Parts: sequence; structure tokens; C-alpha cells
Amino acid sequence: MRLASVVGTRPQLIKAAVLQPILRARHEELFIDTGQHYDDALAGAFINELDLVPPDHQLGVGRGSATEQTAAILARLEPILSTYRPDLVIVYGDTNSTLAGAIVAAQLQLPLAHVEAGLRSFDRRMPEEVNRLIVDHLSTWAFAPTATAVDNLAAEGITQGVTLVGDLMQDLAARMSVEVRDPAVLAQIEARLADQAPGLRLRPGGYLLATVHRAENREPAALRAWADLLASVASGTRPVVLALHPGTQAALTAAGIPLAPAIRVVQPQGYRTALALQLHAAAVLTDSGGVQREAAWLGVPCLVLRSTTEWLEAVADSDGRMVVIGLDQNRAIEALARLAPESSAAADSAQRAASLRLAPAGAAAAIVDRLEAGLPA
Ligand code: UDP
Repeated sequence: MRLASVVGTRPQLIKAAVLQPILRARHEELFIDTGQHYDDALAGAFINELDLVPPDHQLGVGRGSATEQTAAILARLEPILSTYRPDLVIVYGDTNSTLAGAIVAAQLQLPLAHVEAGLRSFDRRMPEEVNRLIVDHLSTWAFAPTATAVDNLAAEGITQGVTLVGDLMQDLAARMSVEVRDPAVLAQIEARLADQAPGLRLRPGGYLLATVHRAENREPAALRAWADLLASVASGTRPVVLALHPGTQAALTAAGIPLAPAIRVVQPQGYRTALALQLHAAAVLTDSGGVQREAAWLGVPCLVLRSTTEWLEAVADSDGRMVVIGLDQNRAIEALARLAPESSAAADSAQRAASLRLAPAGAAAAIVDRLEAGLPA
């Protein structure tokens, strides 16, 4: 088969890194990067770290509103796909790149495969939710990561071409977690971060890891709320390491919101480092879908900085270790006291890393097998 894959953001590069080797071993792939994420720490670095092939086309759309980005991708992608005429187009997740890739495929009448189909927050104020709804309804193949996602699709009348394949990101986390299990990895990370966070000490269970990037958490009131929340759980003895997305950094700067000194801000990290920082943290605080699932797979306590989550199974299967707290400071303090008390966090963390056995989901092979079986009847 001849396929075209469209990616554009950090989590899409991460997902493509799992699927691409299996695709390319058996098929021809045109690899297109829209450039929705253009910062090297969010994009280019992952191509190198995760051994992706250099994209055949870089659309370079860069900064802009959702509409501007979508429009720019539509205009730049259409001539490429109409010339290449792939047998199918693959899109991942729920970004503007996903939406634009799906629309161009539909307009050119090319079959469309959506990886990570069926996720719903049931909140259309969330830009990702709108993208998912449209893309799922345009898809020929809907590859669902969870049973809930399959049910969500069925509730919208989408049953044809739906396959429950598991989570691509689990395949990668399973492979890479072996490399970062040894807590000695923290000393290397500490040395690498010395310029950005002087004096930061990373001990197993001795810090909290945070990431914040969702649009809803870039509004001034929300920025203040999570900055206060992180300040209330950070201390000299247990800092918060905040791997700060450049878009969130820009929003903080624009709103003039400072962060407390015990919140140690670092650049977005590479995949292995992000996984290692999660595994050895006392707990993770995040609004990221990917980080949330990784924390679940690693068994690390996780506070979700949103009022809803699409990943119901991750919460249900976490034995209470994953809590959706919104931006409620009291709930954060209570959850951390229960799930990651400072008195036992070091021992808990060591135990977690030593006993970690994460199996791959087999999602990449399941997707390629299903595509090879041909168009859904
Ligand atoms: N991630 C990373 N470096 C960081 C923060 C996160 O590599 O500094 C990884 C994280 O481990 C996960 C993915 O990025 O694999 C999640 O992407 P993101 O949070 O941007 O998007 P979402 O999953 O919310 O769509």
C-alpha cells in the first residue's frame, strides 16, 4: 500500500514513532509534518530521539489561531495529497493537523484512518473535542484505544470500520520504561537541567512533576488557579518540576503571573527524560492526555488538572491513584497527603521503579493488520 501520514505536534510524533517502523517495513509511506508545533523542544528533537524518518514534506504552518492553522494546512496539504494519491491517509489524535488532514482526505475522496478515535470529553468548548467529532465522522477506519472510545463512537452511530486496538503510546512506554527504570538516570537529568534549574536536586520520590498546556488552562483565571495550586504543594524539600510548554509560558508572561520559587521551571523535555521524570516522581500533576496515561501505566499517583477526562479506564484502573481534581487546591493537598506522603514517597518510588513490568498493547501491529485487511465492508 501507499500511505500518507500527517503529523504536526509532539504527541503525534510520539505516536507516529510507534507505527512508522511497522508501516515502513511493509508499505510505502509519505510522511508529512504540518509544523503545527515548530519549537525544536516540541517537534524536531523527537524526530531524532525517536528515530522517525525526516518528513518528506514540512508544511511549516507555525503559529496562528486554530482557524489560521487549519486553513494553512488545508491549502498546503491538498496539492501534496492530490499529486501523491495515496491509498489511504493516516491522522492521529485531535489537533488542528488531525482535522485538516481529515478534511483534505475527505475532499480528495481518499480513505482515512484515525488513530485514537472515539475519545470524548463531552465538552465542546475544548478545541480538541470539536476536532475529534469531525474527524471520527469522516474516518473510514476508526482505531479506538479503549472500550469507552468504541462505545462513544457507537453512541454517535459509528460502528463500521471501528477496531479496538489499544493504546499506541503504551507500546512506546513499555519499550522505553525499561531504559529509565534505574533511578541513577535522575543524576544525569539533574546534570542536564543544571543550567535551567540551578541547584535542583532530583531524588526518587523527592519531587513532583507537572505539565500544563491545554487551552482552558491558558486563560488568566485558570493560569492563576494552577500557579497557586502548584505553589501550595511545592516546597523547599519537595519542589515541583514544571516542564513548561512554550505556549503556556507565553500565556503566563502575557498575564504577568509569576511562579513561586519552589516551582522549578524547565524546558519541555525529550521523551525518555519525560518518562523518567514521571516514573521517579512522588506524583504527577498534569492536564496532558499522554502524561495521564503514562502515569497510569507506570503506577505513579496522578492529579489531573482538568474537570473531565477522556481516559475513564485510566482513572478506573488506577486503584485510586489517579484523581481528576480540576484546579482545586484543597483537593490537590488532600490527594497528595493520601497518595504521596513525604514520609514514604522515596520508598514508594523505589518500589514502583523496581517492580515495574509494563507490557506493550500491540496497537501498532493491530492497526497495520487491519489496514491490510482492506476497506471495511
Ligand atoms: N512529554 C515529553 N516532554 C515533556 C512533556 C511531555 O516528551 O516535557 C511527552 C509525554 O511523556 C507524552 C506526550 O509528550 O508522551 C504527551 O504530549 P502532550 O502533553 O503534548 O499532549 P497530549 O497527550 O495532551 O495530547
